[in-house]
Amino acid sequence: MDLDAIKTELLGKKEELESRLERTHKHIFQKDEPVSANFNEQVKQTENDELVMALEVDGLQELAQIKSALQRLEAGEYAQCAHCGEDIGEERLMAIPYTDSCIRCAS
Ligand SMILES: [Zn+2]
Repeated sequence: MDLDAIKTELLGKKEELESRLERTHKHIFQKDEPVSANFNEQVKQTENDELVMALEVDGLQELAQIKSALQRLEAGEYAQCAHCGEDIGEERLMAIPYTDSCIRCAS
């Protein structure tokens, strides 16, 4: 398994997520456009905000997983299941590079 390549991929993903989160965060908390006076428009805006908020929560969770994967990579524990200590398996790590559990513990 090419750990350097995985590390590069994780770092790239981390940067991408961080910049995306920064944008959604700005979208939610620093609105430029005034709140619409039209009620239907307001509802639409609120729905959109909820969607963006949900995306931000997802993104934050993914970012946390990526950061912990990078830490485990540094510690040499990357390929080990955090729950049972068994090998996670190369195929699974290729599919989900930031997972911390083997298929048995994840299911
Ligand atoms: Zn396990």
